[in-house]
Amino acid sequence: MEDFDLIVIGAGPGGYVAAIRAAQLGMKVACVEKETSLGGTCLNIGCIPSKTLLNSSEKYVEFKNSAEEHGIKSGKIDLDLSKLMQRKEKIVKQLTAGVGFLFKKNSITHLIGVASFIDEKNIKVKSTKELTLSAKNFIIATGSSSMERPGISVDEKKIVTSTGALSLLVVPKTMLVIGGGYIGLEMGSVWSRLGTQITVIEKMDRIVPNMDGEIAFEFMKSLQKQGIEFKLSHKVVSTKTGSKDVEVTMVSEKDKKQIKNKYDVVLMAIGRKPNTEGLNLEKIGVQLNDQKAIKIDQNYKTNIDGIYAIGDVVPGPMLAHKAEEEGIACVEIINSQKTHINYNTIPAIVYTNPEVASVGKTEEQLKELNTEYKVGKFPFKANGRALTTSQSTGFVKILADKKTDLILGAHIIGHDAGQLIAEIVTAMEFGGSSEDIARICHAHPTTSEAIKEAALNIDGRSIHI
Ligand SMILES: Cc1cc2nc3c(=O)[nH]c(=O)nc-3n(C[C@H](O)[C@H](O)[C@H](O)COP(=O)(O)OP(=O)(O)OC[C@H]3O[C@@H](n4cnc5c(N)ncnc54)[C@H](O)[C@@H]3O)c2cc1C
Repeated sequence: MEDFDLIVIGAGPGGYVAAIRAAQLGMKVACVEKETSLGGTCLNIGCIPSKTLLNSSEKYVEFKNSAEEHGIKSGKIDLDLSKLMQRKEKIVKQLTAGVGFLFKKNSITHLIGVASFIDEKNIKVKSTKELTLSAKNFIIATGSSSMERPGISVDEKKIVTSTGALSLLVVPKTMLVIGGGYIGLEMGSVWSRLGTQITVIEKMDRIVPNMDGEIAFEFMKSLQKQGIEFKLSHKVVSTKTGSKDVEVTMVSEKDKKQIKNKYDVVLMAIGRKPNTEGLNLEKIGVQLNDQKAIKIDQNYKTNIDGIYAIGDVVPGPMLAHKAEEEGIACVEIINSQKTHINYNTIPAIVYTNPEVASVGKTEEQLKELNTEYKVGKFPFKANGRALTTSQSTGFVKILADKKTDLILGAHIIGHDAGQLIAEIVTAMEFGGSSEDIARICHAHPTTSEAIKEAALNIDGRSIHI
């Protein structure tokens, strides 16, 4: 039986980053991962493969629809889906192998197998044989998996989760996406661009419910223009899988009218649930909340000394960068260092085209909090660089405190939104005001000038509108 300073369970972005940081700090570390490939959901079946497919599919529509406008004659554009998928797999392999390399470089013991607690200081790891390991501290970083609904049985062929939607072998003619959150919209965009007629069904009366309402409205309009249909305030009642397609019965929340439609593929994208089953947490008394996420204190410690939890398995936004930050913070706390994460400056991005990026409070949240605020906006259609790239959809919206001018939130819909938001994240982290942004020199011509202009717009000083 081997004894470690720290055992991390799960090698996703939370777990593998925690293991590396602990090794840097001189701890004897093991990381147990049940899959043979390291990197967790993010690298294998999440962020990386989805962004790879988004990139390929974006290039496909761009060549198909805009080459001529640029004076480029390219002949007939055809799709080779298996090649597109091969590129995705190659990138996933490169990155997951990279984590293995980092584990070796940092002398981290990598164990493949399913971990479960024997008691507060010992775990067993089950693979071809069973191992018992002990440690002074444990970090549970077991992540999350797609939520399913009773009565809708996922086969990852006709009724798929995001995992199946990342590896379809043919382009379906029609697809129903259940859920208007970011995963459904990203995967819907991929297949829509490749030729599938996408319908998104959402039980609420808007998409991306956690994002700023004005941005969400603009986002939906833009996706509609690309051919994606939306059924808002609708719920799926039942599904019946046939030999060729899936018959879906839906009901309108408003008039209770039922509709039946057939789709080649149905994508379940109704959210994700924390992976807490099978760890034997009940035996050692680790407390969970009502959503079955692990309860932690401000130091990522569960109610049991020496057992910590981070990432998707704990409450909060299920995002890779949040998991990574928590991995580092948690290890530094175990190492008796002082550390802090500002949860108000964790950005969230939807990698569609246009992208949607958000940090801090939405306008709806500020109203709810009775905070007095100012709004500054600037459209990309008035930005030179956006016009040169034919990517002028969307706008920047900055929310600042009415009295202090501190930036309270920013929401961007536009081609580069995911990159652009970093400036606001930094400004907010440094306690910046809209005046600070307005006085920073932004290179010309760049889309970042739209951020400066939105900041100027807070006091009606935009130059280019
Ligand atoms: C399609 C999709 C797209 C996404 N895109 C983005 C994005 O663009 N940006 C972003 O920030 N986030 C994105 N996410 C979310 C992101 O993947 C997660 O937030 C992130 O992976 C969470 O990291 P984690 O380390 O907490 O858990 P995970 O990455 O889920 O890793 C947990 C690991 O623990 C392992 N494990 C579980 N139980 C055990 C056990 N008992 N024993 C041993 N190992 C175990 C699992 O096999 C897994 O490898 C996306 C998710 C999906 C599904």
